Amino acid sequence: MDIQQLEPVDLPDPRTTTIFEMSRVPGISGKGEHTYHCPSCKSILLENVFASHMARIVFRCPNCGGLSRLQSRNSSPQHVPLIVESH
Ligand SMILES: [Zn+2]
Repeated sequence: MDIQQLEPVDLPDPRTTTIFEMSRVPGISGKGEHTYHCPSCKSILLENVFASHMARIVFRCPNCGGLSRLQSRNSSPQHVPLIVESH
């Protein structure tokens, strides 16, 4: 089985982020090909899910209360571009 760790999230913006409040583990169980565990307490939060279905959702672990999400490896890096001053 392919078990990966979710990416910890500090404080998502509730206006733009969907937080999935889990009441048990695994919070979501399906027929996909990926399983994910909580980065803090290692509880299995997502079991056999399709990663594409879980994008853009933040999950709250029922055991430790930690927020986490799938790693967004396809999105562009959020580096602040350097401001080049003209002389
Ligand atoms: Zn946890």
